[in-house]
Amino acid sequence: MTRIAEKINKVKDVINSTCARIGRDASRIKFVVVTKSVEIDTIKEVIGLGITELGENRVQQLKKVSAQVDEILKREGDNSPLPKKVNWHMIGHLQRNKVRGILGLTSMIHSVDTLRLAEEINSSAEKMDLCPHILLQVNTSEEPQKYGVPVGASMHLAEQIETLSNLKLAGLMTMAPLTHNKDVIRACFVRARELFIEIQGEKIVGPNFTELSMGMSSDYQIAIEEGATILRIGSAIFSG
Ligand SMILES: *Cc1c(COP(=O)(O)O)cnc(C)c1O
Repeated sequence: MTRIAEKINKVKDVINSTCARIGRDASRIKFVVVTKSVEIDTIKEVIGLGITELGENRVQQLKKVSAQVDEILKREGDNSPLPKKVNWHMIGHLQRNKVRGILGLTSMIHSVDTLRLAEEINSSAEKMDLCPHILLQVNTSEEPQKYGVPVGASMHLAEQIETLSNLKLAGLMTMAPLTHNKDVIRACFVRARELFIEIQGEKIVGPNFTELSMGMSSDYQIAIEEGATILRIGSAIFSG
């Protein structure tokens, strides 16, 4: 088994064992493999291991790598063991003038944090006849330099986004601060889960508001414990 395969199995093991311990259904947890700055041959290897959810945090890189992967999948043809298609998640900050360039390429945009950005995605999506899935990124750590809507403004923004007819608001995304203090990390994830449940309870969102994207290489176990449905994992698979 290759090193990458071992590390992916390790992540799957942690997901399964954590879910078993706390009584969650592991099949409700999806992990996105974050490929930023990873060589294309390595990405191909990941896809060959059956991973179909991939993430990038920069528009330029997402465009480049998704085109390369499309090319590979096309070249491989019908008898290939590779999956026919992969799903790209845009997980990083998105500028309004870059929206059109990635809209047709992504299956989910995790980083919507202003009404202006949501409106831009909505109007571009309308022109392109698309209904993209988006997540509202919430700044649960309340660090001023972090992207994301403040917790206190999230409910209102979710309501406003719900009025935009070409968007499918699928849930929330958050990032914990870079710290070894597990209590601080957990507090962010708890805040996100409480907000998630509160928004669901207000009935401003539809039945498709089901995703809670939180947890990275260093904190995904805590995220699972606090209710994450989508993990975004890079370095635990590619570094070291
Ligand atoms: C890079 C990145 C990740 C993955 O981080 P790792 O620590 O490498 O697992 C997750 N989410 C976002 C938004 C990122 O930019």
